[in-house]
Amino acid sequence: MKIVIIGAGIGGLATSIRLAAAGHHVVVLERNPMVGGKFATLEEGGFTFDLGPSLLTLPHVFDELFQLAGTTLADEVELVRLDPQFSYRWPNGSTLEIPDDRAARRAALDAFSPGSGDEWARFAERAERIWEISERTFLAGPMGSAFSLLSRMRSPLDLARIDGNRTLAKSAKSHFEDPRLQQLVGRYATYSGSSPFKAPATLACIPYVEEAFGCWYVMSGLGRLRDAIERVADGMGVEIRTGVDVGSIVTDGGRVAGVALADGGAEGADVVVANVDAAHLYTDLLPSEKEAKQLDQVGKSTSGFVVCAAVRGRTEGIAHHNVFFSLHDQQEFRYLESGNLPLDYTIYACVSSVTDPSQAPPDHENWYLLVNTPPEIGIDKKIMTAGVLNRLAERGVDLRDRIDFTRTLVPADFEARYRAIGGAIYGTSSNGKRAAFARPNNVGPIDGLYLAGGSSHPGGGLPMVTISARIVADLIAEREG
Ligand SMILES: Cc1cc2nc3c(=O)[nH]c(=O)nc-3n(C[C@H](O)[C@H](O)[C@H](O)COP(=O)(O)OP(=O)(O)OC[C@H]3O[C@@H](n4cnc5c(N)ncnc54)[C@H](O)[C@@H]3O)c2cc1C
Repeated sequence: MKIVIIGAGIGGLATSIRLAAAGHHVVVLERNPMVGGKFATLEEGGFTFDLGPSLLTLPHVFDELFQLAGTTLADEVELVRLDPQFSYRWPNGSTLEIPDDRAARRAALDAFSPGSGDEWARFAERAERIWEISERTFLAGPMGSAFSLLSRMRSPLDLARIDGNRTLAKSAKSHFEDPRLQQLVGRYATYSGSSPFKAPATLACIPYVEEAFGCWYVMSGLGRLRDAIERVADGMGVEIRTGVDVGSIVTDGGRVAGVALADGGAEGADVVVANVDAAHLYTDLLPSEKEAKQLDQVGKSTSGFVVCAAVRGRTEGIAHHNVFFSLHDQQEFRYLESGNLPLDYTIYACVSSVTDPSQAPPDHENWYLLVNTPPEIGIDKKIMTAGVLNRLAERGVDLRDRIDFTRTLVPADFEARYRAIGGAIYGTSSNGKRAAFARPNNVGPIDGLYLAGGSSHPGGGLPMVTISARIVADLIAEREG
């Protein structure tokens, strides 16, 4: 069977490997000159910046993918399990480093806030149960409706155990006395571009996943994983064509017949997999009022402001992953939800040269700073860069006189580079109890069309889009009977 995949993001490439392994003729069409989509890298002046993902979780998901092609993750890239995982700083000057080791984590928490080691143990126990159920229900197949989820549950108790009826912020409050730790747990909602005050407590499984399976880095830059996935797809005979913009999906008698290219060409196919943003799919490639309306109703995920700063010298006390929290998380997310830039915001800083000196020239650091923003917002790059650097300086990390150059990305850049509509990084948000069911289905509205990638089920983030590839490949195998 001939299958065309639109977009060479990680979801598209992972799907191509699975479908090639199943014996199909797979063609991937990517409009950009390079593959990877949001999994992008900037190399300049001896510095390397991972422009999108900076943290790798659930590495076994990628290992499973590579094994289909007769190789392993360990054969393809050099992985490092980070310890500490994160360094957190609050405006009042308090700091907390989260060790990789479970017992050391409990001890660090107790030293930070007495009694919180036990609180974390109870929280992690609950989160482990959520993860175990999510893996065999939510992540095990498509989610056409609430019934899809229920049909994969073992008992009605599973539904209560995934904690979908209260928000992540409420769960954090019920587990932790210390508001700083409530803020720390709430941060995990941003991994899906959502607000802890709206997203379900089911997301508590994310910090559990980091605790249980680790926070990982790929030596020479996370982008090496993208290169490995491209190499493996290529080795499987997948035809990857870059610089090819798909203009629309061609149908015949109510089923998919191929794609029309923006330059006037065409490519026939028995099956089409859209790895593009679902909003682009249902607005431009296969306009559907019903699907577009549903996307609108759920609302977009957050976007972001990125500053890559090439920094001279070394910074005392900095970890690979650092978070500088805002003063009031509730206010911060209220601003984001109402489409405004918070006056006071949390800054995430990744300095991978701490682990991997190859990422910056000797005696330099590669600072990657990320601030969550609403989608569709105009941002003045100069003013915002100065604001972020001033705020860091207020928090005791003054980079301002040590910068060789900065490069920035605003929401409009995410849209222009990756066709992420409105710059929304994860498509729709996970805000609200019904958001998981409202996320675009992996099965498209016409026969032969499938969706794989961060804006469809199960959501954004490298492991999730790689899981969406598995779900789509399984659906195509089922269709063949
Ligand atoms: C700033 C930032 C930080 C992030 N941090 C992390 C992190 O730390 N860890 C993590 O796991 N994840 C992180 N993510 C999320 C992760 O990068 C994404 O969820 C994932 O890469 C999305 O993959 P995808 O398969 O959905 O495709 P995308 O990356 O969205 O790629 C889609 C591709 O389709 C192409 N395309 C679009 N329209 C067309 C068309 N008409 N014709 C042909 N091609 C087309 C685009 O050019 C693009 O290459 C981050 C993302 C960003 C932006």
